[in-house]
Amino acid sequence: MVYNFKPLASIENLAPGETLDVVAVVAEVDAVMEIALKAGGSKTRQNVTLVDDSGVSCRLTLWAEFCENSYAVGSVALFKGVRVSDFGVKSLNTANGSVAIVDGQAVASNARATAVAEWFRLGGPAALQDARSLSSERGPSNPPQTIEKLKADGMQLEAPNPGGAFAAQRAPAQLQRYHTIEPATVTFLPHDRPPFYMACPVEVPDEKAAGDGKTRTCNKKMEQSGGVWCCSSDHQCQEPTARWIAQFAIGDHTGNQYVSSFDETGQKILGCKASQVAELWLVKESDLVAAARIEQLFKAAQYKRWRLRLKSRKEVWNDEERLKFSVLDVSPVDVVKDARAKLAEVLASLSAQ
Ligand SMILES: [Zn+2]
Repeated sequence: MVYNFKPLASIENLAPGETLDVVAVVAEVDAVMEIALKAGGSKTRQNVTLVDDSGVSCRLTLWAEFCENSYAVGSVALFKGVRVSDFGVKSLNTANGSVAIVDGQAVASNARATAVAEWFRLGGPAALQDARSLSSERGPSNPPQTIEKLKADGMQLEAPNPGGAFAAQRAPAQLQRYHTIEPATVTFLPHDRPPFYMACPVEVPDEKAAGDGKTRTCNKKMEQSGGVWCCSSDHQCQEPTARWIAQFAIGDHTGNQYVSSFDETGQKILGCKASQVAELWLVKESDLVAAARIEQLFKAAQYKRWRLRLKSRKEVWNDEERLKFSVLDVSPVDVVKDARAKLAEVLASLSAQ
């Protein structure tokens, strides 16, 4: 068989729909899932994460008969004719005509497989820690843009078309984008309703890391009935954990935009844990000090400037498309870098006249 191997890092520069051959080590193996097809029937799907000596990792989605190979963490695998997709982050898919060869057979069929297996044996586990993920939710670090540009970019997105595997196999649409806004000023933090929810603290198996016993926190919303709290997975507990789910407005010289933050990012924006506000919230109707403390916290967060990493996507709600921005990361503004960039703009505009 003739191969045209490319390093995983090259996927970054390939267009959606292009195919390539790769040799890589399997770093993570998800469980095989049964996916319902829009046209009826179902199909099996399995995600694996690949890493190679080019310094990146990438998700590969195996479809149907390609799930039948048994992949283990540390397996070396050779894939011919896998297709690039781009849903805001890059990943690979098996396609018609793809070939997958694993472990001993891969090593026997091509010298590149031997080399990659040897690379992983000698230093791969450490390299895996440092590998940059092409398929991670954090996405690429794009240059800062204005809020006006952020909105214009968001308008270009397509709304998701539900249909599982069927949707994944049609021509890839741009469903989400990543943005950096720096500096973004927090202009308004509404808090007439609780900006947090009570989350389920029960540990459940982590589907994204199947097979090695990893767990994650359930975190579903809990409702109180009688003396106990219950989530939609029927977990029960006495004491749920408060988590931030705070909407706030950001502004710059080009406009304003509402964005949503979740627990980790909300904690940075508000400067405290959601549980602190949840305790005050319980008594704020009868306790003037608690009510004043809440106002103080929200006032302190207002007009702060941040570097924000955002993800945009369109949602369909009551047959209406809505553009949503969620905060992925919050970090302080690099004042020196910001001043240099602004100065360069001023100088450029002066010399243009
Ligand atoms: Zn739960």
